[in-house]
Amino acid sequence: MIVEVALPVPMRGAFDYLSAGTEPSPGCRVRVPFGTRHLVGVVVAIKDTSAQPEDKLRPVQEVLDQQPVIGDTMQTWLQWASRYYQHPLGEVMSTALPARLRKGESAITTELYYELTSIGRDLEDDALKRAPKQHALITRLRSARCRDKALKQDFSAAVIKAAREKNWIDATPAPYQADTSWPEHLQLKGELPPNLEQSLAITAVHNQLDRFACFLLEGVTGSGKTEVYLQAILPLLQQGKQVLILVPEIGLTPQTVARFEQRFAAPVAVLHSGLTDKERLDVWQQARQGEVGIVIGTRSAIFTPLASPGMIIVDEEHDGSYKQQDGWRYHARDLAVVRARLENVPLILGSATPSLETLNNALSGKYQHLSLRQRAGGAKAVQHQVLDIKGQTLDYGLAKGLQQRIRLHLQLGHQVMLFINRRGFAPALICHQCGHVEECHRCERSYTLHRQLNKLQCHHCGDAKKVPVRCAACGHHQLQPVGVGTEQLEQGIQGLFPEYDAMRIDSDSARGKQKLHDMLDEINQGNRQILIGTQILAKGHHFPNVSMVVILDVDSALFSADYRAAEHLAQLITQVAGRAGRAQVQGELWLQTHNPGHPLLQDLLNNGYQHFARLALKERQFASLPPYSSQALFRAEAVDSGLAYGFLEQVKDCLRPTDISLIGPLPALMEKRQGRYRMQLLLQSEQRTGIQKWLSNMMSRIEKLPLANKVRWSLDMDPMDFT
Ligand code: ADP
Ligand code: ZN
Repeated sequence: MIVEVALPVPMRGAFDYLSAGTEPSPGCRVRVPFGTRHLVGVVVAIKDTSAQPEDKLRPVQEVLDQQPVIGDTMQTWLQWASRYYQHPLGEVMSTALPARLRKGESAITTELYYELTSIGRDLEDDALKRAPKQHALITRLRSARCRDKALKQDFSAAVIKAAREKNWIDATPAPYQADTSWPEHLQLKGELPPNLEQSLAITAVHNQLDRFACFLLEGVTGSGKTEVYLQAILPLLQQGKQVLILVPEIGLTPQTVARFEQRFAAPVAVLHSGLTDKERLDVWQQARQGEVGIVIGTRSAIFTPLASPGMIIVDEEHDGSYKQQDGWRYHARDLAVVRARLENVPLILGSATPSLETLNNALSGKYQHLSLRQRAGGAKAVQHQVLDIKGQTLDYGLAKGLQQRIRLHLQLGHQVMLFINRRGFAPALICHQCGHVEECHRCERSYTLHRQLNKLQCHHCGDAKKVPVRCAACGHHQLQPVGVGTEQLEQGIQGLFPEYDAMRIDSDSARGKQKLHDMLDEINQGNRQILIGTQILAKGHHFPNVSMVVILDVDSALFSADYRAAEHLAQLITQVAGRAGRAQVQGELWLQTHNPGHPLLQDLLNNGYQHFARLALKERQFASLPPYSSQALFRAEAVDSGLAYGFLEQVKDCLRPTDISLIGPLPALMEKRQGRYRMQLLLQSEQRTGIQKWLSNMMSRIEKLPLANKVRWSLDMDPMDFT
């Protein structure tokens, strides 16, 4: 028998081995020799014959699983993904597994179980009369042994410790056994009566719970999308089915997780970047054995296996974080659509600002379009204002007139949010004498000044150094910051509004989950009145007391070379605006710009995102850009720019007589990074299958091109950015 194994190596195709002893099923892991190494791979097929001569085949060294760790449907799904993204199957499968399983550890996890000792079993009830907690503990363990985690939920550590010290109970490790009783204990807490639009949406979903259907829930910020998710999934949970929910960023939206936890009294597993490998494996185990009803997680949570899948929800589906930006460059939303189809379950994509791809699918009838046009719970719509800052004096990037306005809101006891998309003190440091700007030589971009750290930092490669005292070019002392970042704005604002407290939220100040948590608490308790932040602040927070939001600079995005920049700016403005006035306060949004008449701004502000997006789709159609065409991007980088260029020229040569249009090779928007020159070749075709077909025929040839191993190169299907 021949075992075909997908291995985590950057090579296409699977590898054949001889079966030795027990024959593994597809989806099980095996350890096999590969060159001089031993690798853990996943069995994809068992077959009779191999294209390789049999005496060349090496035997499987060890079968690691009795039961598949990747089930049938997931296998089909990952095989599809490998073909679609032109990424080696072994790497795809390995991405889908928790790190510990990738390393070959056992998939059968053990846990501590408490049970009574012989002394404990012989205890009379009378003996425990004066110790009611101990009594309860002993009674609990009389009926059955109990898992460490479950026991600790109901009894304090002190009570458990005392019983252990008296030698009444003992804990021993045993193989994990799922407790799948949660559907019996399901409860419903705090359900809100849905408004008309919400109930139409909920009914539409309820009508198709038992099969694949894809819904776009397009609801303005604060329209109660989360409430729709909560009510939509209730019947599934009642049937014991599980729901997988993707969110862009968990640390930032603890409220969302809390709402799912509080509503049903069903166990919720949360997957985020702060978990240890052991914790990840536990969640994987609980999900695939049906112990948790709800799994909430970021991008990679899409790979969570489910014992009995009921629905997938992708919240804020437009969010850029769903796209993996290195290695296997998958898009979790797009993978979710295919997974839902294969699992035959419904999928809800929710957003106030749907991506043009998704919107197009909804408008063309491929997805069902559900709309929530009103803010729920009586919150009013936000008023938009554009402030022309041409010729105006700005303090720390903030116009004088707006400072008055901010004061007014603060005096009413409201909070104000200032949004600037640049962290650090200033984006550059310039010499006042000779004009020299300190640049990172590896990226040829200016260093960002971080005053608090007393450092210059390159935001492109992470390089950092102490702030110089003298100019490197002329030796003069007068080095001055240019431009404004969050750090400077915070300092300046504190000076302008000394009687109020400001808080800065960006990836520098909000390191670590607990820190961010504490900061959000501070804000919600009203201890801070002025919030300053980068786009972190735009993501889904609920700050009921914020009544005014200012975006300090929208100009840079208006003139970007990236055709998606307009879409992203519109999403950002709409999302940021959505942070204002979510409760009973009238919210207002201010945009500072030198281009108040810019058609994009005008359309967005006068007619809203819905209108803007439909118009933007027309433009894309006219220009044959995605979603009206499909794109794939070859990237190549090398210290020698000629090599990167040359490789892409060779790729281009392979393409000659096809109906795919080619753009490039061209330098990337960021031409140099970390000392390497970066080039791109864009493939575009109005037929998605055209590119797919060509790539699947060509990839192995491209891999063998003379320059292929002299440059770093990658292929990005459906590229989201061109930097
Ligand atoms: P979204 O996810 O669309 O931004 P949320 O689901 O967070 O909106 O809802 C915004 C606010 O409106 C929340 O405070 C929520 O409790 C409230 N809300 C939602 N639906 C209703 C409803 N039917 N009745 C009253 N309040 C509601
Ligand atoms: Zn750099």
